[in-house]
Amino acid sequence: MSKIARRKFIQLSAVAVAGALASPGRRAFAQDLPHLAEDDAMAGAMKYTHDASTVDPATRANPAADQTCANCALIQGNDGEEWRPCQIFPGKAVAAKGWCSVWAPKV
Ligand code: SF4
Repeated sequence: MSKIARRKFIQLSAVAVAGALASPGRRAFAQDLPHLAEDDAMAGAMKYTHDASTVDPATRANPAADQTCANCALIQGNDGEEWRPCQIFPGKAVAAKGWCSVWAPKV
């Protein structure tokens, strides 16, 4: 790696670390995000609902029994919050008791 490429790599790494450190601060504003609407086109494509109990388990691709946004690997924000950010729907908050077809278990 040339000195210039190494320097650029170090600069970009520093920016990435700064962004990661800033993430907890952004989570503090999760309650300010607009709620994802069930009739949003992207939400519809992902079969998103505000209430996971309305989803027939037989229609889900993943067989895990207990599936809500609160226990999905893609949820962000803080445990216990009613509405939280989700990696699939940037800029919107999803219901903690909601669900969509992208649900994945936390590891
Ligand atoms: Fe909820 Fe997970 Fe779907 Fe996001 S990806 S809407 S957290 S089930």
